[in-house]
Amino acid sequence: MPVAAALGTPNNVDVVVIGAGLAGLCTARSLADARLSVLLVDRKPSITYGIHTSGIFVRRTFDEFDLPGGCLGSPIRHVNLYSPAGTKIELQSPRPEFRIGRMERLYAEMLKRCRRAGVRVLLETTFESSVDRSQHLLVSLRQRAHSIRVASRFLIGADGAQSQVAEDLNLSLNRKWIVGVEHVYRNVPPGGPPSLHCFLDPLLAPGYLCWIAHDRDEVHLGVAGNPARFRPLQALQRFRKRAANVVNLDAAEFIENRGGRIPVGGVLPRIASRRGLLVGDAAGAVSPLTAGGLDPCLRLSRLASSVAAQFLTTGDESVLNVYNGKRFRRRFLGRRLLRSLLEACRHPWIMEAGCQLLRTSPGRAVAARLFFGDFSFPDPAPRLQPIAPIDASSSR
Ligand SMILES: Cc1cc2nc3c(=O)[nH]c(=O)nc-3n(C[C@H](O)[C@H](O)[C@H](O)COP(=O)(O)OP(=O)(O)OC[C@H]3O[C@@H](n4cnc5c(N)ncnc54)[C@H](O)[C@@H]3O)c2cc1C
Repeated sequence: MPVAAALGTPNNVDVVVIGAGLAGLCTARSLADARLSVLLVDRKPSITYGIHTSGIFVRRTFDEFDLPGGCLGSPIRHVNLYSPAGTKIELQSPRPEFRIGRMERLYAEMLKRCRRAGVRVLLETTFESSVDRSQHLLVSLRQRAHSIRVASRFLIGADGAQSQVAEDLNLSLNRKWIVGVEHVYRNVPPGGPPSLHCFLDPLLAPGYLCWIAHDRDEVHLGVAGNPARFRPLQALQRFRKRAANVVNLDAAEFIENRGGRIPVGGVLPRIASRRGLLVGDAAGAVSPLTAGGLDPCLRLSRLASSVAAQFLTTGDESVLNVYNGKRFRRRFLGRRLLRSLLEACRHPWIMEAGCQLLRTSPGRAVAARLFFGDFSFPDPAPRLQPIAPIDASSSR
């Protein structure tokens, strides 16, 4: 058997999932619930280390997905949109629209759920490559000085925006990004109801925006934009000064820096093959307009685990056709066009004129629909049959 087990690693599994972010945690658990043997691997020493996301969840997500309790902040119903000159457009929803995730707690709870479902977890372990051995893949991992090889029937890349698994499986790669950085604070005076403040300014945040998300317990202050056109850390420093008009950070407790790449080219075309598939950022599952990736990553992971479980149970390769990025790309056309428009607004005066339009009543309706609409990410249905528990003996 061509497998070198180390440090309690299983020799032989149905699925290896690389990456224990939201996509990997969600996919690994669903597959284990379907009685497949799953190994979840992440290079981080701890799952709560180096969190990069702001963690703002949209209503559709917390309404529909069973997120662990106590992991979301107070509901946010107010959005304030600021033009480059500082003109404010106030939007309010009767429903709770956003909640800031307490991501450390959320990841830790989701990892517990994975373990309870039977997922084996290897942290501080890096994916290196895989080799196709007709009956299985031989997956090479590295844990400090140890080389580990695991035989697996399927490989899932949940390894983020710059996916090594995508490269290894010869699937599509993300090529279009924005870059975001943010500071997280606590003990900030409330200064109003829980709110999301968005600042449109193509000089500070070219191709995207600056934000303050304040739910009265945490404040996230960040900027994101096209990396070819701005310096994120300098922009954040400049934005912090401007933010002083909205939020008083004088006595705030600084918690951490976050940041990273956000793929905004839309779901990638080729995200599955007989050897494996991609989920989350690795699959480009981020709204090209809002750059929100948490809802897409949960929706696509739900579909991915159904597809993978059915393929592994039946051996029917045609099931994989459902998981074809080209099908989703068409549904993102509008959002990709709006992204191009946002990218094209290079001068503050063009953005200012756009913001003036948003102050009109049809403009406000458009803005409210963008922030409060139900279409953050199209559900990647058609739904397959729900994953049926699989006879344990047939899962090897
Ligand atoms: C600054 C910023 C703010 C954001 N804010 C929001 C927001 O408020 N709301 C929203 O909806 N979206 C937001 N996003 C996007 C959202 O965070 C992502 O789309 C989402 O977190 C992607 O999850 P994921 O599991 O696919 O990837 P990740 O969370 O990136 O997880 C990938 C995991 O793979 C591991 N890994 C990578 N390579 C290897 C390897 N070779 N071997 C082993 N492990 C590996 C990494 O350690 C990591 O744990 C934000 C993104 C950024 C950068």
